[in-house]
Amino acid sequence: MPDNQSIIQKTDEYLLHNSARQPIAVLRGEGAYVWDANGKRYLDFMGGIATCALGHCHPVLVEVAKRQLERLWHVSNIFHTQPQVELAEKLVKVSGFSKASVFFCNSGAEANETMLKLVRRAQKDKGHPERYEVISFESSFHGRTLATVAATGQEKHKKGFEPLPAGFVHVPFGDIEAVEAAVSSQTAAILVEPIQCEGGVKPAPQGFLRALSQLCEKKGLFLLVDEVQTGMGRTGKWFGFQHDGILPSAFSLAKALSNGLPIGAMVCNAELAPSLPPGSHNSTFGGNPVATAVGSAVMDLLSEGHLFEEVARKEARLKQGLLKTQQRFPKLIKEVRGRGLLLGIEFPFPVGPIIARCAEASLLVVSAGENVVRFMPSLLLTDEQMDEGIEIFEKALSLL
Ligand SMILES: *Cc1c(COP(=O)(O)O)cnc(C)c1O
Repeated sequence: MPDNQSIIQKTDEYLLHNSARQPIAVLRGEGAYVWDANGKRYLDFMGGIATCALGHCHPVLVEVAKRQLERLWHVSNIFHTQPQVELAEKLVKVSGFSKASVFFCNSGAEANETMLKLVRRAQKDKGHPERYEVISFESSFHGRTLATVAATGQEKHKKGFEPLPAGFVHVPFGDIEAVEAAVSSQTAAILVEPIQCEGGVKPAPQGFLRALSQLCEKKGLFLLVDEVQTGMGRTGKWFGFQHDGILPSAFSLAKALSNGLPIGAMVCNAELAPSLPPGSHNSTFGGNPVATAVGSAVMDLLSEGHLFEEVARKEARLKQGLLKTQQRFPKLIKEVRGRGLLLGIEFPFPVGPIIARCAEASLLVVSAGENVVRFMPSLLLTDEQMDEGIEIFEKALSLL
C-alpha cells in the first residue's frame, strides 16, 4: 500500500497545483473519523467541506449505493428514472413551496449557474428583457464557473479571469439600504447565502432575508438563496432560509445532498419553472441514479427521530464548549459564531498554522476566509466526540 509520502509526491507530479492541500493522504473514513495512508486516525470536523453530514461511509447509504450500482448507473435525462423523481418529490415536500420543480446537476456552482440563467429568461418571459442584473453580496461565495465567480463577492476568486460575464452588482452583506439603492430598472434578482460560509461564517443579520424577500416582492425581482453549504439540516432546519420564515423564488443545493457523492440541485417555484422549457438547459450526469438514490436515503435519515432538534442541542453544547475555550485563550479567540453545526471561530490573525497544529494533533478543520476556523462535524456527532474535538483544539492552541 502506498504511504502518505508517496501519494503526496505523485499528487505533486501529476495533479494541477490548484489546491492548497494538507500533507495528509486520506485512505478511508468511518462515521466521524478518517484514517490516513500511514494509519493515523483523525477526528473529522470538516466532513469534506460540509458534505459528509451523516459521517463517512454511513452503512445505510453504502447499501443503497451498492444496490443502485448493481441495477443502473446512468442513462441521462433522455429518460425518466425512479431515484431522481423520488428525491425531487422529497425535496419539494420539505421545501415549503405549494408547488415547485427540481433540476438536478453535479455541483453547487452548476446549481447556482442554473438559477442565474433561469432568472434572465424568466424576466424576458415577463416582458422585461432589460432586467438581467443580479445583486449579490460582498464576501459571498457562489462557485468557480465564470458566471458564479462573477456573482461571488471576493476579488481573489476573480483575479486574472477577466473579462467576467456582465450583469453582477455587489453590495455590503446585511445592508438592506444598500440593496435598495442598488436596485435599478435592470435588476432581475437578488442572490444571497443565509450564512456566508466561505466568506467567514457570517450569518445574515436578523430580519435581513425577510427584508430582501419583501423588497423582491415589491419590485418584481426574484430572490435566489444559495443553500449549497447551509442546506440539508446543517443549520438545524432543512434549509437556512426556513429560520426566517420566507420562501425564495429558487434555491440551490449541493454539498450534503448525497453525503459526498457528486450532486447539485436547484428548486424553483411555479412562476419560474416554465422559463426553462425542453432543450433550454441540461446536464448529462444530472440526476444520476446512484447520486439521487443516495440523496433520497440521506433525506430519509435526516427525517428520522428528532435529528434537527439534536442539531440545535449540539449547537448549544458546542458553542458553550468553545466559549470556555475562548475564556482559556482570550488573546487568541475573538468570536465564536454560526448556526447549527456550522460554526466559525475568529482569530486576530490568519489561521493556517492553527489548522496545521490541529491536523498534527488529529483534528481536521478548515478555514473560512483568512482568520476563521470552521467547525462542520457530522450531524451524528456524539457528545464524547464533541468533547474530544474541543480537547484536541485546545491542545493545538496551546502549541501555538
Ligand atoms: C461550495 C459552495 C459553492 C460551490 O459548490 P461546488 O460544488 O464547489 O461547485 C457555492 N456556494 C456555496 C455557498 C458553497 O459553499
